[in-house]
Amino acid sequence: MAFIRVKNDKITLKKKLLKTDEVLKYWENKKDENSIMCKSRYCQNNTSLGGCIFKSDSKSDKRYIVPICSECSNKNEEFEVWENDLILINN
Ligand SMILES: [Zn+2]
Repeated sequence: MAFIRVKNDKITLKKKLLKTDEVLKYWENKKDENSIMCKSRYCQNNTSLGGCIFKSDSKSDKRYIVPICSECSNKNEEFEVWENDLILINN
């Protein structure tokens, strides 16, 4: 496992009608862990929602959720997360 580069996908959540607080709960239940800190590398903010991201160096259309802060969820540029913190969501 390693840090990987990811980007936000704002479209999939809307398309699936997922609410970001429910996404966060889903993540916490699956991992059996309360997410306190934003999972974006170097970010010191508290987690505020479940973000939907994709691996920016991958051609796959897989989407993942990861707990992040609202600031990181609005980024258009790449950021890094620990790969083990991702949960794959089914298409
Ligand atoms: Zn953050």
